[in-house]
Amino acid sequence: MGWLWLRFCRLFANREQEVTRAGKLAYNETQKKAGSLMPDEALARAIASPPAQKLRPRKTISMKLFQCQVCSQPLFFENALCEKCGHRLGFDPKARQLMALEPAGGDLWQEAQPGAASRWRFCTNATQGVCNWLVPHDSAQTLCVSCRHNRMIPDLAEPQHLERWRRIESAKHRLIYTLLALDLPLPTRAQDAKGLAFDILASAQGGPPVMTGHEDGLVTLNLGEADDGEREKRRTDMGETYRTLLGHVRHEIGHFYWERLVRDGGRIEAFRSLFGDERADYASALQRHYAQGPAPDWQMHYVSTYASAHPWEDFAETFAHYLHIVDTLETANAFGLEVHPRIRAAADISSQIDVDAHHARDIGHLIDAWLPLCFAVNSLNRSMGQPDLYPFVLSPQAIAKLGFVQELVHRPPQAPEHFA
Ligand SMILES: [Zn+2]
Ligand SMILES: [Zn+2]
Ligand SMILES: [Zn+2]
Repeated sequence: MGWLWLRFCRLFANREQEVTRAGKLAYNETQKKAGSLMPDEALARAIASPPAQKLRPRKTISMKLFQCQVCSQPLFFENALCEKCGHRLGFDPKARQLMALEPAGGDLWQEAQPGAASRWRFCTNATQGVCNWLVPHDSAQTLCVSCRHNRMIPDLAEPQHLERWRRIESAKHRLIYTLLALDLPLPTRAQDAKGLAFDILASAQGGPPVMTGHEDGLVTLNLGEADDGEREKRRTDMGETYRTLLGHVRHEIGHFYWERLVRDGGRIEAFRSLFGDERADYASALQRHYAQGPAPDWQMHYVSTYASAHPWEDFAETFAHYLHIVDTLETANAFGLEVHPRIRAAADISSQIDVDAHHARDIGHLIDAWLPLCFAVNSLNRSMGQPDLYPFVLSPQAIAKLGFVQELVHRPPQAPEHFA
């Protein structure tokens, strides 16, 4: 396959402070700040290496763009109320659909459609304004399929905590949406001792910061990262070009699925052939990474400097990128976006974003749609003085690793029922 290597994106590192299997490591960021290449160089590269294949035709209706069934108002995934007709909105995670609702007696709700038969309750966390997802009325669960994975939430007596928790839930719900769309296993701790759980914790005053990380299915998230100023300070202190809550949860879930789909899924040898041997000592690998930085040619092999620290981190970074790409392509598809630059040889970097990102089995289909879209949106962001949407380089080896993740997520072990 003729891979594009478009260097229109600035380099990226999605690093985090982590609780590692080896214990807490002091974070001593020494990475060089990444540079960027001029767009005309990117064009030259694109023209030199045109996409090998055209996109697949549209196969399914994309769902990320929602619409009120009552008044046709376009809605965001996070909306709890239709601003036009005033209907309360709830998200059905099984159908992955946002619905306009009407009261159905007591705490029950039904779709605002003639003959609607299903009855729903809101997730308990809706009372805090941090969730708009629904639970079937006859379910024994009071929390939705996203919130039931929470093990610890922050102390809401602290005034700042509720808004920060809401931001983390917004990222987490978007993560779970994509995992459901990919039909990946999402066992809770009640179903599996090492099922997926989240501790969302605030650092104690004067104490050590909460360390973002994953261990045996438990993802720990630092509430402080939901503060824009605090997160931006960490990003600049570490010389990163990208640091978001969504990036954090997509990275940590990568560690979770490494254990499930690679280690326990019989894929360890295939993993090692692409990512390296994860039996290399993790603590010393990270210490070396923070002390010495990545190898000079790291971008030939890794999607980020942090990915070069250890095969586990390489996989988690690659997994996060796969989710970034799938989610963003789904949204672009829903908006019917096309990229047709008004330049010579435009066909070589044109794209009609009609790939079914959740079901595509060939990473080339995703990348052929993704790179022109990134080039266009990065250029739009620069027109507004904003950082690039996707400040990364995708080398052929990084794309091959994305292909491994894609193949992996489409052959998971039997998933327990999410929607009971
Ligand atoms: Zn409406
Ligand atoms: Zn919920
Ligand atoms: Zn990690």
